Amino acid sequence: MLVDSHCHLNFPDFKDDLEGVISRAREAGVTVMQTICTEMAEFDEVLGIAERFDGVYCSVGVHPNDSGGQEVLEAQELISKTSHKKVIGIGETGLDYYYEKSDRNLQKQSFLQHIIASRETNLPIIVHTRDAEEDTAQILKDEMAKGAFRGVLHCFTSSQYLAEKALELGFYISLSGIITFKTAQSIRDTIKTVPLDRLLVETDAPYLAPVPHRGKRNEPAFTKYTNVILAEVKGISAEECARITTENFFRLFDKAQPCA
Ligand SMILES: [Zn+2]
Ligand SMILES: [Zn+2]
Repeated sequence: MLVDSHCHLNFPDFKDDLEGVISRAREAGVTVMQTICTEMAEFDEVLGIAERFDGVYCSVGVHPNDSGGQEVLEAQELISKTSHKKVIGIGETGLDYYYEKSDRNLQKQSFLQHIIASRETNLPIIVHTRDAEEDTAQILKDEMAKGAFRGVLHCFTSSQYLAEKALELGFYISLSGIITFKTAQSIRDTIKTVPLDRLLVETDAPYLAPVPHRGKRNEPAFTKYTNVILAEVKGISAEECARITTENFFRLFDKAQPCA
């Protein structure tokens, strides 16, 4: 069994064959998936998909690239969506200075509201960070000092520095298909230093398809390719790696239930 800890099943790429996507995932052993919310306007649709399929869970949150459009949402609005049994995480949130589609200050304010929601609900926060290592590390550290919360750095592409900072705070690190790319040696080197009990796998589908599907549409079934490379990097079997990353997922996202 494998878990795709982060995908976007509501995106238009899946509109025509979502049933097929889910059944291919199950055939590949990916029986649990978390479909991630990126703006409040899509939450009902995201939750609808989670309600429709066994083993599909969802999050609630606003992506940093979308946090500048309207007023920064309040933690309370996020919290109000978390009572549903299929809502297991807060995010994705964080800082993206690469695209910088939203003002940095608005991104930070939004990130802080998500942290408040995570702390209050005890649901893990799903952090997206790109070209914003110092600020991400600082915010997580400062906020942790105010009161504990749990979470994951998703689609990890950061440095050893941020990995260490996140691990010190008890965070998990989720790896996408990027680790299968030839060019990702520095990420694979960093992963070698991350304890096995802190690692998750994800697709971030429809983006970032792993080798051998690179450049095509990604889907949750392809979690298996990332798992194989992660196992290789860690010097364990793919079965062992799947078992460990699955256990890690359910330890962190403890509102989710393994599928029968
Ligand atoms: Zn992301
Ligand atoms: Zn995402």
